[in-house]
Amino acid sequence: MCTLSPTPTLSRREVLAAASAVGLLGCGARSSLKPTAPARSAVVLGAGLAGLVAAFELMKRGFDVHVLEANAQPGGRIRTIRAPFPDGLYVEAGATHVVGDPDLLALFSELNVGLFEPARRRWPKQVLFKRGQRSVFSAGEAIPEEDLPLREDEASLDFNGMLEKYFGTLKDHDPRKLDGAGSEYSRLDGLTAEQLLMERGASEGFRQLAETSFCPSGSLKTMSGLALMREALNIQLEIGWGSARRVVGGSDTLPRALAQRLGDRVILGALARRIEQGAQGATVTFTRKGEMHQLSARHIVCALPGTLVPRLEMAPVLPAAQLQAFSLINTVSVVQVYAATKTRYWNARGESGNADTDLPVGRIKDESALQEATAGILGAHPSGAESRRLSSLADGVLHREVIDAMERVHPGLQDQLLSVHSVCWDNEPNIRGAFTWLGVGQLTQQQPLLRRPHGAMVFAGDYNSHRPGFMHGALASARRAVAEVVSREAMLAT
Ligand SMILES: Cc1cc2nc3c(=O)[nH]c(=O)nc-3n(C[C@H](O)[C@H](O)[C@H](O)COP(=O)(O)OP(=O)(O)OC[C@H]3O[C@@H](n4cnc5c(N)ncnc54)[C@H](O)[C@@H]3O)c2cc1C
Repeated sequence: MCTLSPTPTLSRREVLAAASAVGLLGCGARSSLKPTAPARSAVVLGAGLAGLVAAFELMKRGFDVHVLEANAQPGGRIRTIRAPFPDGLYVEAGATHVVGDPDLLALFSELNVGLFEPARRRWPKQVLFKRGQRSVFSAGEAIPEEDLPLREDEASLDFNGMLEKYFGTLKDHDPRKLDGAGSEYSRLDGLTAEQLLMERGASEGFRQLAETSFCPSGSLKTMSGLALMREALNIQLEIGWGSARRVVGGSDTLPRALAQRLGDRVILGALARRIEQGAQGATVTFTRKGEMHQLSARHIVCALPGTLVPRLEMAPVLPAAQLQAFSLINTVSVVQVYAATKTRYWNARGESGNADTDLPVGRIKDESALQEATAGILGAHPSGAESRRLSSLADGVLHREVIDAMERVHPGLQDQLLSVHSVCWDNEPNIRGAFTWLGVGQLTQQQPLLRRPHGAMVFAGDYNSHRPGFMHGALASARRAVAEVVSREAMLAT
């Protein structure tokens, strides 16, 4: 471990704010944890949505709270990229669609962050790229579907009906309460998703549909049956909430609004490294601008991606079973590649820019469709095994491969190309993976361990909720973590 620096490099304002609130210790004082950390004080690790909401809620309850964020901006996986694009255009590299979860909508409204329902414009031509062939279909012309061999009884149902048939209804199961290890749920968690669907008589066609449309691991053979059931129940809930919305001005408006409310309580560029717990509180050691600092508080809310929790040095260490649960978290790989173009030349041909392909890059989309400008942005978002392969390539090689594929689907790109930009979520040092998924047994055996408080430390993050990979999951986890802090504070006060 590096030598502790004698002088912290936080700004004077940050030092004063932190010192008055939670006792910013001189860096030489690493082992001088006060026996009693100040009452109603908390340090939140990570300024993704979960960390920001936890800090905001604690602030509203009168806690002295500070947020340590390793990146230079708040938001984590809510990331709107603006800088390299022309005409004020932006893209969403992370969270894009806002589902109608009532708590999430209430948060937007409380922060005065606007939402809109994207209007769908119809274009006269539709492009499909399959088996090396670019095909263009006119409006009304039948597009050959890749026939899924659904059985008659399945084909007579809509998507929601099929979900109910194989996974049950929301009247029978609450997706927020499946990890309580009830005996039937434990049994289903012990099955692969494929075994569960076979047991319930699903056809090969439905199994294919499930695997390609709502199985985060990308394979029914690896995903837990119960975890897939939770996905299906969540989808039923979200269908009931109506169409997803978008954030006015870009998704990062939400974390920026939260960070603004929190003011200088949010310390950016601060990488948490070590948590040392004492009788009533904890000291966090973090690095910022190459120097070490410490903050101590009565409560720690750990809102880092779950995969990064094992990298934190902890004293006392996490119990072995809990550490193992964190180490076993599986992630989905996603790469985003964006090509900025001088014009939306595809629109001039009557095409939307969106095209399904069987190329390794997957579906190609016009990312600029909802924004007014002359320039455009085409995007590709390969995921899973293909994304892992692409993530291992040097940027130049990755960009060339994706641009070549885009050129085949939307000829003319090379002449129109202004710049290429990419985000590989696996390679982001403070994220390491786009979303999490649960393998056999993990929902009932490991998920409860992931959210078990460790002394003064509670855990938040979308991975630690009923809806991993979604903002409302991150929000729900933050609310639970805050309730845990509040109840521990009350216990310590008595
Ligand atoms: C490609 C993609 C598309 C998505 N699309 C949608 C969508 O359409 N709709 C939707 O609802 N959700 C979507 N999501 C999911 C959504 O973005 C996440 O569920 C949510 O943002 C997670 O928030 P979080 O706070 O749990 O985690 P994160 O956002 O990962 O926040 C964790 C934070 O911890 C910080 N950190 C890490 N290590 C340290 C450290 N040692 N010290 C200090 N800070 C640290 C990180 O920098 C990060 O800011 C998408 C995500 C991705 C990747």
